Amino acid sequence: MSDSPNPNEGRVAVVTGGSRGIGRAVVTRLARDGYDIAFCYRSDDEAAALAEKDVRELGRRVLSRRVDVAERSQVQAFVDAAEDELGPVWAAVTSAGITRDKPLVLMPDEEWDAVIRTNLDGTYNLARSVVFPMIKRGGGSVVTLSSVAGVAGNAGQTNYAASKAGIIGFTRSLAKEAGRYGIRANAVAPGFIDTDMTSVLPEKTGKEMKKRIALGRFGAPEDVAATVSFLVSEQAGYVTGQVFQVDGGISL
Ligand code: NAP
Repeated sequence: MSDSPNPNEGRVAVVTGGSRGIGRAVVTRLARDGYDIAFCYRSDDEAAALAEKDVRELGRRVLSRRVDVAERSQVQAFVDAAEDELGPVWAAVTSAGITRDKPLVLMPDEEWDAVIRTNLDGTYNLARSVVFPMIKRGGGSVVTLSSVAGVAGNAGQTNYAASKAGIIGFTRSLAKEAGRYGIRANAVAPGFIDTDMTSVLPEKTGKEMKKRIALGRFGAPEDVAATVSFLVSEQAGYVTGQVFQVDGGISL
């Protein structure tokens, strides 16, 4: 632990999907920023244990739970446990997400439902649990994970893009609704980030994508976590309702 005073002492951040990928990088970054951390994940206990270890080594308190973010009651129980064990939630980051890519005409209904339920309902479920307590305490920050696919659309991802565009509408509406209570809500829309989610892309597709990215490479989860860190911090105290594209310039 560093000797400098911790500006976030006693503040708790909750992160969904915090065991792997972008969520894992957010967990580590916010712990480094001085937050105590509650995170949830779907099933990978081993990855979750490693993420927990990182937080403890940074000298912060941590709680992790297996939760399906699509299930409202599980998310509420997770947030209740976080508040009981760690304290009031100051920052909430919704990183849990899945893809089930198919052209629309081949889309099984179950894959449409799974993506909308995890990505969009999951975002609603966390915000629904944390925002009212934040309002009562007079402050807090919500950061949602959208995607460039939610901004521009992407062939083969009607389900995913719909969920991610929905997250943008949700976040902007929340910003308008809760701003007067001192709560900020912003979305981060990553491009291609090196995680398990993108590791399934065929090599040829990856190479073609890199040609379209101004910076010529996929991003690292830490690139996204840095933006999340800024958005939850006081430095972003006058920033709300925005969509931050962390995409290496693919959208240019
Ligand atoms: P990832 O590496 O696949 O990790 C996904 C995380 O979400 C894991 O911790 C996973 O837990 C958890 N999760 C999945 N379904 C869940 C559920 N129903 N309930 C609770 N937790 C669940 O994904 P990622 O690449 O880091 O993506 C993180 C977010 O960024 C997602 O919302 C994604 O859509 C968005 N995003 C990613 C990219 C990219 O290029 N990677 C680009 C744009 C947007 P388990 O491991 O236990 O299943």
